[in-house]
Amino acid sequence: MAFARIVGKKMKKKCSVCQGVATVSKLELTKAVLLAPDNPAIERVTEKCINCGHCKTICEQLVGISYDDKQAREAICIHCGQCILNCPVGALIPKYHYKKVLDYLHDTTKIVTISIAPAVKVALGDAFQMAPGTFVEGKMITALRKAGFDYVFDVSFGADMTIMEEANELVTRLDQKKTMFTSCCPAWVEYLEIYHPKLCSHLATTKSPISIQGALLNSYFLDMYNIKREDVIHVVVVPCTAKKYEIKRPELDGMDIAITTSELAMLLKESNVDLTTLATSQFDSLLGHGSGAGILFGGSGGVMEAVLRSAYYFLNQQDPPETLLNLQPSSTYANVKEATVDLGQKNLQVAVVYGMPNVEPLLQQLEQESLPYDFIEVMNCPLGCVGGGGQPLGSLKEQMIVNEKRRDGLQEIGQSMTIRNSYENSMVKDVYRSYLGYPGSLKAKKLLHTHYEDKSSILGEVPLNIN
Ligand code: SF4
Ligand code: SF4
Ligand code: SF4
Repeated sequence: MAFARIVGKKMKKKCSVCQGVATVSKLELTKAVLLAPDNPAIERVTEKCINCGHCKTICEQLVGISYDDKQAREAICIHCGQCILNCPVGALIPKYHYKKVLDYLHDTTKIVTISIAPAVKVALGDAFQMAPGTFVEGKMITALRKAGFDYVFDVSFGADMTIMEEANELVTRLDQKKTMFTSCCPAWVEYLEIYHPKLCSHLATTKSPISIQGALLNSYFLDMYNIKREDVIHVVVVPCTAKKYEIKRPELDGMDIAITTSELAMLLKESNVDLTTLATSQFDSLLGHGSGAGILFGGSGGVMEAVLRSAYYFLNQQDPPETLLNLQPSSTYANVKEATVDLGQKNLQVAVVYGMPNVEPLLQQLEQESLPYDFIEVMNCPLGCVGGGGQPLGSLKEQMIVNEKRRDGLQEIGQSMTIRNSYENSMVKDVYRSYLGYPGSLKAKKLLHTHYEDKSSILGEVPLNIN
Protein backbone atom coordinates (compact mmCIF):
# COMPACT_ATOMS: atom_id res chain seq x y z
CA MET A 1 0.00 0.00 0.00
CA ALA A 2 1.40 3.35 -0.96
CA PHE A 3 1.16 5.45 2.18
CA ALA A 4 2.20 8.93 1.17
CA ARG A 5 0.83 10.74 -1.81
CA ILE A 6 2.94 13.10 -3.89
CA VAL A 7 1.04 16.32 -4.32
CA GLY A 8 3.58 19.07 -4.75
CA LYS A 9 6.49 20.17 -6.84
CA LYS A 10 10.16 19.22 -6.39
CA MET A 11 12.22 21.25 -3.92
CA LYS A 12 15.61 21.22 -2.22
CA LYS A 13 16.09 20.09 1.38
CA LYS A 14 19.20 20.23 3.52
CA CYS A 15 19.74 17.41 6.01
CA SER A 16 20.45 18.70 9.53
CA VAL A 17 22.84 15.82 10.25
CA CYS A 18 24.90 15.15 7.11
CA GLN A 19 24.33 18.63 5.60
CA GLY A 20 23.69 16.93 2.26
CA VAL A 21 21.15 18.50 -0.07
CA ALA A 22 18.55 16.31 -1.76
CA THR A 23 15.88 17.11 -4.31
CA VAL A 24 12.61 15.68 -3.06
CA SER A 25 8.93 15.92 -3.59
CA LYS A 26 6.65 17.88 -1.31
CA LEU A 27 4.21 15.43 0.13
CA GLU A 28 0.79 15.76 1.56
CA LEU A 29 0.76 15.33 5.31
CA THR A 30 -0.98 12.14 6.35
CA LYS A 31 -1.91 10.93 9.81
CA ALA A 32 1.53 9.43 10.46
CA VAL A 33 4.62 11.17 11.79
CA LEU A 34 6.86 12.90 9.28
CA LEU A 35 10.03 10.99 8.54
CA ALA A 36 12.79 12.06 6.20
CA PRO A 37 14.48 9.23 4.31
CA ASP A 38 17.80 10.40 5.74
CA ASN A 39 16.47 10.19 9.32
CA PRO A 40 19.43 8.51 11.04
CA ALA A 41 17.34 6.94 13.80
CA ILE A 42 13.96 5.62 12.71
CA GLU A 43 12.01 4.55 9.64
CA ARG A 44 8.56 3.39 8.68
CA VAL A 45 7.70 0.11 7.00
CA THR A 46 5.03 1.55 4.72
CA GLU A 47 3.44 -1.79 3.90
CA LYS A 48 2.56 -2.30 7.57
CA CYS A 49 1.22 1.20 8.32
CA ILE A 50 -2.56 1.40 8.77
CA ASN A 51 -2.53 5.22 8.92
CA CYS A 52 -4.10 5.25 12.38
CA GLY A 53 -2.31 8.44 13.42
CA HIS A 54 -1.32 7.17 16.87
CA CYS A 55 2.36 7.93 16.28
CA LYS A 56 1.57 11.56 15.45
CA THR A 57 -0.57 11.92 18.57
CA ILE A 58 2.31 10.58 20.68
CA CYS A 59 4.82 12.82 18.90
CA GLU A 60 2.65 15.86 19.55
CA GLN A 61 1.38 15.14 23.03
CA LEU A 62 4.17 13.15 24.69
CA VAL A 63 7.23 14.45 22.84
CA GLY A 64 5.91 17.96 22.22
CA ILE A 65 6.56 18.31 18.50
CA SER A 66 3.97 20.59 16.95
CA TYR A 67 2.41 19.80 13.59
CA ASP A 68 0.47 23.04 13.61
CA ASP A 69 1.67 25.43 10.91
CA LYS A 70 -0.09 28.29 12.65
CA GLN A 71 2.55 28.16 15.35
CA ALA A 72 5.14 28.84 12.64
CA ARG A 73 6.77 25.52 13.38
CA GLU A 74 7.26 22.60 11.10
CA ALA A 75 7.37 19.12 12.57
CA ILE A 76 11.00 18.23 13.07
CA CYS A 77 11.89 14.80 14.35
CA ILE A 78 14.22 14.77 17.37
CA HIS A 79 14.84 11.04 16.92
CA CYS A 80 13.54 9.88 20.31
CA GLY A 81 11.72 6.78 19.02
CA GLN A 82 8.64 7.16 21.24
CA CYS A 83 6.52 6.67 18.12
CA ILE A 84 8.15 3.24 17.64
CA LEU A 85 7.03 2.14 21.09
CA ASN A 86 3.49 3.28 20.41
CA CYS A 87 2.79 2.05 16.88
CA PRO A 88 0.17 -0.70 17.28
CA VAL A 89 1.30 -2.70 14.23
CA GLY A 90 5.09 -2.41 14.42
CA ALA A 91 5.29 -0.21 11.31
CA LEU A 92 7.92 2.05 12.89
CA ILE A 93 11.36 0.62 13.60
CA PRO A 94 14.83 1.85 14.52
CA LYS A 95 17.18 2.25 11.54
CA TYR A 96 18.76 -1.19 11.90
CA HIS A 97 22.55 -1.26 12.15
CA TYR A 98 23.07 -4.61 13.87
CA LYS A 99 23.65 -6.46 10.57
CA LYS A 100 26.64 -4.18 10.00
CA VAL A 101 27.91 -5.18 13.44
CA LEU A 102 27.52 -8.88 12.54
CA ASP A 103 29.60 -8.22 9.39
CA TYR A 104 32.38 -6.66 11.48
CA LEU A 105 32.27 -9.61 13.91
CA HIS A 106 33.02 -11.90 10.96
CA ASP A 107 35.83 -9.65 9.69
CA THR A 108 39.05 -11.02 11.21
CA THR A 109 40.97 -7.82 10.40
CA LYS A 110 38.85 -5.78 12.85
CA ILE A 111 38.91 -5.56 16.62
CA VAL A 112 35.32 -4.94 17.76
CA THR A 113 34.56 -3.29 21.11
CA ILE A 114 31.10 -3.00 22.59
CA SER A 115 29.97 -0.68 25.40
CA ILE A 116 26.67 -1.18 27.22
CA ALA A 117 24.49 1.66 28.54
CA PRO A 118 22.91 1.18 32.01
CA ALA A 119 19.24 1.07 30.93
CA VAL A 120 19.99 -1.84 28.55
CA LYS A 121 20.86 -4.06 31.52
CA VAL A 122 17.29 -4.02 32.89
CA ALA A 123 15.50 -4.31 29.54
CA LEU A 124 17.35 -6.86 27.38
CA GLY A 125 15.82 -9.71 29.42
CA ASP A 126 12.33 -8.66 28.19
CA ALA A 127 13.25 -9.90 24.72
CA PHE A 128 14.12 -13.30 26.23
CA GLN A 129 10.86 -13.61 28.21
CA MET A 130 12.45 -12.68 31.53
CA ALA A 131 10.49 -10.61 34.06
CA PRO A 132 10.54 -6.83 33.35
CA GLY A 133 13.32 -5.07 35.24
CA THR A 134 15.52 -8.21 35.57
CA PHE A 135 19.17 -7.14 35.81
CA VAL A 136 21.00 -9.22 33.18
CA GLU A 137 24.42 -7.54 33.15
CA GLY A 138 26.52 -10.68 33.88
CA LYS A 139 24.66 -12.95 31.42
CA MET A 140 24.76 -10.24 28.77
CA ILE A 141 28.56 -9.92 29.02
CA THR A 142 28.92 -13.69 28.51
CA ALA A 143 26.49 -13.51 25.58
CA LEU A 144 28.50 -10.72 23.92
CA ARG A 145 31.75 -12.65 24.23
CA LYS A 146 30.04 -15.70 22.71
CA ALA A 147 28.80 -13.52 19.85
CA GLY A 148 32.43 -12.60 19.13
CA PHE A 149 33.08 -9.14 20.60
CA ASP A 150 36.74 -8.64 21.52
CA TYR A 151 36.22 -6.15 24.37
CA VAL A 152 33.07 -5.65 26.44
CA PHE A 153 32.90 -2.32 28.29
CA ASP A 154 30.45 -0.57 30.60
CA VAL A 155 28.99 2.83 29.68
CA SER A 156 28.50 3.33 33.43
CA PHE A 157 32.22 4.13 33.36
CA GLY A 158 31.57 6.87 30.75
CA ALA A 159 28.67 7.99 32.96
CA ASP A 160 31.04 8.30 35.93
CA MET A 161 33.35 10.48 33.83
CA THR A 162 30.35 12.60 32.72
CA ILE A 163 29.39 13.00 36.39
CA MET A 164 32.91 14.11 37.37
CA GLU A 165 33.09 16.70 34.58
CA GLU A 166 29.51 17.90 35.01
CA ALA A 167 29.81 18.19 38.79
CA ASN A 168 32.97 20.24 38.30
CA GLU A 169 31.17 22.37 35.72
CA LEU A 170 28.26 22.91 38.13
CA VAL A 171 30.59 23.99 40.92
CA THR A 172 32.53 26.39 38.68
CA ARG A 173 29.31 27.88 37.25
CA LEU A 174 27.68 28.46 40.66
CA ASP A 175 28.79 32.09 40.86
CA GLN A 176 27.33 32.89 37.45
CA LYS A 177 23.81 32.52 38.87
CA LYS A 178 22.73 31.06 35.56
CA THR A 179 20.50 27.96 35.35
CA MET A 180 22.45 24.96 34.05
CA PHE A 181 20.73 22.14 32.13
CA THR A 182 21.97 18.58 31.84
CA SER A 183 23.03 17.67 28.31
CA CYS A 184 23.20 13.87 28.16
CA CYS A 185 19.88 13.37 26.32
CA PRO A 186 20.46 14.05 22.60
CA ALA A 187 16.74 14.44 21.85
CA TRP A 188 16.50 17.21 24.47
CA VAL A 189 19.68 18.90 23.23
CA GLU A 190 18.38 18.83 19.66
CA TYR A 191 15.01 20.21 20.79
CA LEU A 192 16.75 23.16 22.44
CA GLU A 193 19.02 23.78 19.45
CA ILE A 194 16.03 23.85 17.09
CA TYR A 195 13.28 25.49 19.13
CA HIS A 196 15.12 27.60 21.73
CA PRO A 197 18.65 28.14 20.39
CA LYS A 198 19.19 31.25 22.53
CA LEU A 199 19.07 29.00 25.59
CA CYS A 200 21.86 26.65 24.45
CA SER A 201 24.39 28.48 26.63
CA HIS A 202 22.50 27.02 29.61
CA LEU A 203 23.43 23.46 28.58
CA ALA A 204 26.33 21.80 30.38
CA THR A 205 29.18 21.44 27.89
CA THR A 206 30.08 18.01 29.30
CA LYS A 207 29.58 15.25 26.73
CA SER A 208 27.09 12.45 27.28
CA PRO A 209 28.30 9.12 28.75
CA ILE A 210 28.49 7.38 25.34
CA SER A 211 30.35 10.30 23.77
CA ILE A 212 32.81 10.39 26.66
CA GLN A 213 33.21 6.62 26.43
CA GLY A 214 33.87 7.02 22.69
CA ALA A 215 36.39 9.82 23.22
CA LEU A 216 38.32 7.72 25.77
CA LEU A 217 38.16 4.58 23.61
CA ASN A 218 39.75 6.59 20.82
CA SER A 219 42.49 8.04 22.99
CA TYR A 220 43.18 6.27 26.29
CA PHE A 221 42.19 2.75 25.16
CA LEU A 222 44.06 2.93 21.81
CA ASP A 223 47.16 4.31 23.56
CA MET A 224 47.09 1.66 26.31
CA TYR A 225 46.77 -1.27 23.90
CA ASN A 226 48.76 0.31 21.07
CA ILE A 227 45.91 -0.23 18.61
CA LYS A 228 45.47 1.82 15.42
CA ARG A 229 42.11 3.59 15.04
CA GLU A 230 41.51 2.06 11.61
CA ASP A 231 41.80 -1.47 13.04
CA VAL A 232 39.00 -1.07 15.56
CA ILE A 233 35.22 -0.67 15.44
CA HIS A 234 33.46 0.77 18.48
CA VAL A 235 29.87 -0.34 18.98
CA VAL A 236 27.58 0.99 21.69
CA VAL A 237 24.28 -0.52 22.86
CA VAL A 238 21.71 2.02 23.99
CA PRO A 239 18.05 2.17 25.00
CA CYS A 240 17.77 5.13 22.71
CA THR A 241 17.24 5.76 18.99
CA ALA A 242 18.42 9.38 19.36
CA LYS A 243 21.94 8.10 20.10
CA LYS A 244 22.05 6.97 16.45
CA TYR A 245 21.72 10.67 15.64
CA GLU A 246 24.14 11.74 18.40
CA ILE A 247 27.05 9.63 17.11
CA LYS A 248 26.69 11.30 13.71
CA ARG A 249 27.21 14.79 15.11
CA PRO A 250 30.60 15.76 13.67
CA GLU A 251 31.82 17.25 16.98
CA LEU A 252 31.16 13.93 18.78
CA ASP A 253 33.43 11.71 16.75
CA GLY A 254 33.70 8.64 18.99
CA MET A 255 31.48 5.60 18.53
CA ASP A 256 31.18 4.00 15.08
CA ILE A 257 27.82 2.24 15.42
CA ALA A 258 24.95 2.61 17.90
CA ILE A 259 22.47 -0.24 18.18
CA THR A 260 19.40 -0.34 20.39
CA THR A 261 18.51 -2.88 23.08
CA SER A 262 16.00 -4.46 20.70
CA GLU A 263 18.67 -4.72 17.98
CA LEU A 264 21.04 -6.39 20.43
CA ALA A 265 18.36 -9.01 21.12
CA MET A 266 18.10 -9.62 17.35
CA LEU A 267 21.88 -9.85 17.01
CA LEU A 268 22.11 -12.43 19.80
CA LYS A 269 19.20 -14.47 18.45
CA GLU A 270 20.68 -14.48 14.93
CA SER A 271 23.99 -15.60 16.48
CA ASN A 272 22.13 -18.44 18.27
CA VAL A 273 23.07 -17.09 21.69
CA ASP A 274 20.37 -17.68 24.31
CA LEU A 275 20.80 -15.20 27.13
CA THR A 276 18.76 -17.22 29.62
CA THR A 277 21.02 -20.28 29.67
CA LEU A 278 24.33 -18.48 30.24
CA ALA A 279 26.56 -18.06 33.30
CA THR A 280 27.55 -14.55 34.33
CA SER A 281 30.89 -12.85 33.63
CA GLN A 282 32.62 -9.49 34.13
CA PHE A 283 33.32 -6.46 31.94
CA ASP A 284 36.84 -5.97 30.63
CA SER A 285 38.81 -4.06 33.20
CA LEU A 286 39.88 -0.99 31.20
CA LEU A 287 36.88 1.38 30.99
CA GLY A 288 34.86 -1.45 32.51
CA HIS A 289 33.89 -0.39 36.02
CA GLY A 290 31.04 1.93 36.81
CA SER A 291 29.91 3.11 40.24
CA GLY A 292 26.38 3.01 41.66
CA ALA A 293 26.08 6.65 40.58
CA GLY A 294 26.98 5.73 36.98
CA ILE A 295 24.21 3.15 36.89
CA LEU A 296 21.60 5.65 38.10
CA PHE A 297 21.93 7.50 34.77
CA GLY A 298 19.34 5.18 33.24
CA GLY A 299 16.39 6.61 35.19
CA SER A 300 14.87 10.07 35.57
CA GLY A 301 16.47 11.94 38.49
CA GLY A 302 19.57 9.73 38.36
CA VAL A 303 21.85 12.23 36.65
CA MET A 304 20.81 14.93 39.10
CA GLU A 305 21.50 12.74 42.13
CA ALA A 306 24.82 11.46 40.78
CA VAL A 307 26.11 14.94 39.84
CA LEU A 308 25.04 16.48 43.16
CA ARG A 309 26.82 13.75 45.14
CA SER A 310 30.09 14.50 43.37
CA ALA A 311 29.57 18.29 43.55
CA TYR A 312 29.07 17.94 47.31
CA TYR A 313 32.30 15.99 47.56
CA PHE A 314 34.23 18.56 45.49
CA LEU A 315 33.02 21.40 47.71
CA ASN A 316 33.36 19.69 51.10
CA GLN A 317 35.94 16.93 50.62
CA GLN A 318 33.60 14.48 52.34
CA ASP A 319 30.87 12.06 51.31
CA PRO A 320 27.37 13.53 50.94
CA PRO A 321 24.62 12.57 53.39
CA GLU A 322 22.11 9.90 52.24
CA THR A 323 19.38 12.56 52.35
CA LEU A 324 21.15 14.96 49.98
CA LEU A 325 18.37 15.00 47.37
CA ASN A 326 14.71 14.84 48.34
CA LEU A 327 12.64 15.62 45.25
CA GLN A 328 9.04 16.77 45.68
CA PRO A 329 6.41 17.76 43.09
CA SER A 330 6.68 21.45 42.19
CA SER A 331 3.71 23.57 43.16
CA THR A 332 4.47 25.96 40.28
CA TYR A 333 5.25 23.71 37.32
CA ALA A 334 3.19 20.65 36.35
CA ASN A 335 5.07 17.33 36.21
CA VAL A 336 8.28 18.88 37.51
CA LYS A 337 9.99 17.69 40.68
CA GLU A 338 12.16 20.06 42.67
CA ALA A 339 14.34 20.22 45.77
CA THR A 340 16.52 22.53 47.79
CA VAL A 341 19.91 20.91 48.20
CA ASP A 342 22.34 21.80 50.95
CA LEU A 343 25.78 21.64 49.36
CA GLY A 344 27.48 22.81 52.53
CA GLN A 345 28.81 26.09 51.19
CA LYS A 346 25.63 26.85 49.32
CA ASN A 347 21.97 25.89 48.96
CA LEU A 348 21.02 24.90 45.44
CA GLN A 349 17.54 24.92 43.88
CA VAL A 350 17.22 21.98 41.50
CA ALA A 351 14.53 20.44 39.31
CA VAL A 352 13.97 17.21 37.39
CA VAL A 353 11.66 16.91 34.41
CA TYR A 354 11.05 14.61 31.45
CA GLY A 355 9.02 15.20 28.28
CA MET A 356 9.33 18.38 26.23
CA PRO A 357 5.71 19.51 26.91
CA ASN A 358 6.63 19.55 30.61
CA VAL A 359 9.86 21.49 30.10
CA GLU A 360 8.36 24.00 27.64
CA PRO A 361 6.84 26.30 30.33
CA LEU A 362 10.26 26.49 32.01
CA LEU A 363 11.92 27.39 28.71
CA GLN A 364 9.36 30.06 27.94
CA GLN A 365 9.89 31.64 31.33
CA LEU A 366 13.66 31.47 30.96
CA GLU A 367 13.41 33.27 27.60
CA GLN A 368 11.54 36.11 29.30
CA GLU A 369 13.46 36.36 32.56
CA SER A 370 15.13 33.83 34.86
CA LEU A 371 14.15 30.58 36.55
CA PRO A 372 14.19 29.83 40.26
CA TYR A 373 16.52 26.85 39.64
CA ASP A 374 20.31 26.54 39.55
CA PHE A 375 20.37 23.11 37.93
CA ILE A 376 17.74 21.19 35.92
CA GLU A 377 17.88 17.61 34.69
CA VAL A 378 15.93 17.18 31.45
CA MET A 379 15.20 13.89 29.70
CA ASN A 380 12.91 13.23 26.78
CA CYS A 381 11.46 9.82 27.55
CA PRO A 382 8.99 8.67 30.22
CA LEU A 383 10.97 8.00 33.43
CA GLY A 384 14.19 8.69 31.50
CA CYS A 385 16.25 6.25 29.42
CA VAL A 386 14.55 3.15 30.87
CA GLY A 387 11.59 4.24 28.71
CA GLY A 388 13.72 4.93 25.63
CA GLY A 389 12.51 4.35 22.08
CA GLY A 390 15.06 1.58 21.46
CA GLN A 391 13.86 -0.69 24.26
CA PRO A 392 12.13 -4.01 23.49
CA LEU A 393 8.46 -3.62 22.59
CA GLY A 394 5.87 -4.82 25.05
CA SER A 395 2.21 -4.32 25.76
CA LEU A 396 1.17 -0.72 25.03
CA LYS A 397 -1.02 -0.66 28.12
CA GLU A 398 1.74 -1.76 30.48
CA GLN A 399 4.53 0.47 29.17
CA MET A 400 4.68 2.73 32.24
CA ILE A 401 4.56 -0.24 34.65
CA VAL A 402 7.44 -1.89 32.80
CA ASN A 403 9.42 1.39 32.83
CA GLU A 404 8.90 1.66 36.59
CA LYS A 405 10.18 -1.89 37.09
CA ARG A 406 13.27 -1.11 35.01
CA ARG A 407 13.91 2.09 36.98
CA ASP A 408 13.45 0.25 40.29
CA GLY A 409 15.81 -2.50 39.05
CA LEU A 410 18.54 0.08 38.32
CA GLN A 411 18.04 1.88 41.64
CA GLU A 412 18.26 -1.37 43.57
CA ILE A 413 21.52 -2.33 41.87
CA GLY A 414 22.95 1.19 42.19
CA GLN A 415 22.24 1.24 45.92
CA SER A 416 23.67 -2.22 46.52
CA MET A 417 27.05 -1.41 44.94
CA THR A 418 30.05 -0.93 47.21
CA ILE A 419 31.38 1.97 45.15
CA ARG A 420 28.42 4.34 45.12
CA ASN A 421 30.03 7.58 43.95
CA SER A 422 31.89 8.41 40.75
CA TYR A 423 34.80 10.03 42.60
CA GLU A 424 35.40 6.71 44.44
CA ASN A 425 35.70 4.68 41.21
CA SER A 426 39.35 3.54 41.02
CA MET A 427 39.26 3.39 37.22
CA VAL A 428 38.05 6.99 37.08
CA LYS A 429 40.86 8.01 39.45
CA ASP A 430 43.41 6.16 37.27
CA VAL A 431 42.27 7.91 34.10
CA TYR A 432 42.55 11.32 35.75
CA ARG A 433 45.86 10.48 37.43
CA SER A 434 47.58 8.99 34.39
CA TYR A 435 45.90 10.74 31.48
CA LEU A 436 43.65 13.75 32.05
CA GLY A 437 45.03 15.43 35.18
CA TYR A 438 41.89 16.58 36.97
CA PRO A 439 38.20 17.35 36.20
CA GLY A 440 38.02 20.40 33.99
CA SER A 441 41.72 20.28 33.01
CA LEU A 442 42.65 21.52 29.53
CA LYS A 443 42.95 17.94 28.28
CA ALA A 444 39.62 16.96 29.88
CA LYS A 445 37.96 20.01 28.31
CA LYS A 446 39.36 19.11 24.89
CA LEU A 447 38.32 15.45 25.04
CA LEU A 448 35.23 15.41 27.21
CA HIS A 449 33.36 18.64 26.42
CA THR A 450 31.43 19.81 23.39
CA HIS A 451 29.51 22.77 21.97
CA TYR A 452 26.02 23.38 20.60
CA GLU A 453 24.61 25.07 17.53
CA ASP A 454 21.64 27.16 16.58
CA LYS A 455 19.67 24.75 14.38
CA SER A 456 16.51 26.84 14.14
CA SER A 457 17.07 27.42 10.43
CA ILE A 458 15.61 23.99 9.69
CA LEU A 459 12.25 25.24 10.95
CA GLY A 460 10.17 26.25 8.00
CA GLU A 461 11.86 23.84 5.64
CA VAL A 462 9.46 21.31 4.23
CA PRO A 463 9.83 17.95 5.97
CA LEU A 464 10.48 14.91 3.84
CA ASN A 465 7.94 12.12 3.93
CA ILE A 466 8.38 9.75 1.08
CA ASN A 467 8.37 6.27 2.56
S1 SF4 B 1 1.17 4.47 14.54
FE1 SF4 B 1 2.05 3.01 13.07
S2 SF4 B 1 0.29 2.33 11.90
FE2 SF4 B 1 -0.38 4.17 12.97
S3 SF4 B 1 0.03 5.84 11.48
FE3 SF4 B 1 1.84 5.64 12.77
S4 SF4 B 1 3.19 4.28 11.62
FE4 SF4 B 1 1.16 4.03 10.76
S1 SF4 C 1 11.21 9.78 16.82
FE1 SF4 C 1 10.23 11.10 18.39
S2 SF4 C 1 10.27 13.16 17.46
FE2 SF4 C 1 10.65 11.69 15.80
S3 SF4 C 1 8.66 11.31 14.91
FE3 SF4 C 1 8.99 9.71 16.47
S4 SF4 C 1 8.06 10.53 18.34
FE4 SF4 C 1 8.29 12.23 16.92
S1 SF4 D 1 15.72 10.08 27.65
FE1 SF4 D 1 17.38 8.63 27.28
S2 SF4 D 1 16.50 7.15 25.85
FE2 SF4 D 1 15.17 8.95 25.79
S3 SF4 D 1 15.97 10.21 24.09
FE3 SF4 D 1 16.94 10.91 25.97
S4 SF4 D 1 18.89 9.77 26.08
FE4 SF4 D 1 17.53 8.71 24.62
